[in-house]
Amino acid sequence: MILMLLAPHPSWLIIVIRHHLLTLKSYGWLATHLLISYTLMFLACTSLIVCLARDPGPVSSPEDAQDDNEETSFTEALMASGADDFNSPGKWCKKCWATKPERTHHCSICRRCVLKMDHHCQWMANKCIGHRTYPAFVHFLTCTVLMAMYMGGVAISGFYYAFTNPTSIDETTPLHELGIGFVGLIITAVVGSFLGYHLYLISINRTTLEDLSPFLLLRLIPNLMNPHDPFPTSEHRLSFNQRRVVKRTHRQIQLYNVGWRKNWGQVFGWERRRGWVYRLLLGGAGKGDGRAFPRNPRSEEMLVKLADDLRNADKDS
Ligand SMILES: [Zn+2]
Ligand SMILES: [Zn+2]
Repeated sequence: MILMLLAPHPSWLIIVIRHHLLTLKSYGWLATHLLISYTLMFLACTSLIVCLARDPGPVSSPEDAQDDNEETSFTEALMASGADDFNSPGKWCKKCWATKPERTHHCSICRRCVLKMDHHCQWMANKCIGHRTYPAFVHFLTCTVLMAMYMGGVAISGFYYAFTNPTSIDETTPLHELGIGFVGLIITAVVGSFLGYHLYLISINRTTLEDLSPFLLLRLIPNLMNPHDPFPTSEHRLSFNQRRVVKRTHRQIQLYNVGWRKNWGQVFGWERRRGWVYRLLLGGAGKGDGRAFPRNPRSEEMLVKLADDLRNADKDS
C-alpha cells in the first residue's frame, strides 16, 4: 500500500519540474502543485499509519482486565447481559468465550472479536477495520481519491498542452503525463466508487458487514424454533420463504440510522466544535466506546415485525 502511494512520485516530479518549471517557467504552479499533492500525501499517510498501527477495536477494556480473577461463568455472563431480552446488546462469542457487545463481530481471519467491525481488509496489512480505525480508513480513501484526481488532472492537462504545442517540450515528459493521467483515472474510478459506497453506508449508519450479511438480523430477534434458547436461529435452519423474507426486508431495517447528521457525527465527531479538525489530522476512533449505539426509534417495531413475518412466512404459501 505504501509502495502504491510512493510509486507515481518520480514521474510526478518529472512532470511538475519539466513541464511547469522548465517549459512554462512558472514557480507559482510548481509550488501550488507540490504543496497540494504533498499535503494530500501526508494526510493519506497519517491515516494509513493509524489504520495499520491501531487496534481496530479490542473488546476487553482495562476494567475488564482487573476483573479477570473473578471467574464469570457462561450463564452468569448471559444473565448479566440480559440474554432473555432479545434486544439486549450483550451476546456471547463462542470462539473467544467472552461477551460480545452490540455490533461486535468475530473475525475468523484475525481470530478475535472486533468492536463495530466493518470488514476485514487484505489491502491494509490483512487487518480488520473496526470502531477505532474506521474514521481513519474513510479519511485515507478520501485523501487517496483526491490525490489521484488532482495528479491525474494536472498530468492530463499537461499532456494536452504537450499535444497542442509539440515543439515546446521534450519527448519523454508527455509519456510520464500519459502514465500518471491513466493511473490517476483508474484509482479515481476504483477507489472512488469504494469511497462512495462507504459514504452511503455512513449516511445510513451501517457497517459493510451489516450491509452484506442480511442474516445478522437473526441475532437480534428471539430464536424462532425455541424462544428460550439464548442463541439466535441458525441461518441454515430457515426455510426458503424465510430466507426470502430476510433478504427482502434487510435493506429497509436500518437499525442504527438516527438521521444522517447524527450518523455522520458518530463517525467524524461533528457534535464537538472543531471535532473534525482533530479527526482530519489524527484520525481517531468513532464517537463513543464502540459498545453501545443509539438505535433508530423504529428499530424495535421493525424487528418485531420481522420476527412475525418469519413465523408466518411458511403459512402464507
Ligand atoms: Zn470472538
Ligand atoms: Zn480481521
